[in-house]
Amino acid sequence: MDDCLFCKIIAGEIPSQKAYEDEEILAFHDINPQAPVHVLIIPKQHIRSADALTEADDATLCRLFAAARRLAGELGLSGKGYRLITNVGADGGQSVPHLHLHLIGGRPLRWDN
Ligand code: AMP
Ligand code: ZN
Repeated sequence: MDDCLFCKIIAGEIPSQKAYEDEEILAFHDINPQAPVHVLIIPKQHIRSADALTEADDATLCRLFAAARRLAGELGLSGKGYRLITNVGADGGQSVPHLHLHLIGGRPLRWDN
């Protein structure tokens, strides 16, 4: 999608610090980390948000979560725990309209931070 920040990152038009990549998934470190580990995991296909998912995206969703689990292991979070978040729309705090999982960890997390 032309005007999407994350599609530009996928296309290499905007640089990112990659953490994982395959044919369908890209993961990169958040530019404004909220914890010692803060990685964004996105499908290469432009999907606006979790609210735009259809059954055709089932396999993509599985791959997103599999990538999250693998990255959590590689980044040393598996035993300690971590948080996976996807914000949806304005009230959900979504600022980039391209589906993404936030993988956050490396410190104890609460609901308000
Ligand atoms: P959300 O607010 O849930 O849509 O999450 C968007 C995330 O993208 C925020 O945590 C931002 O810090 C992050 N972000 C914005 N621009 C970039 C960028 N160029 N590289 C990496 N992360 C970014
Ligand atoms: Zn996009």
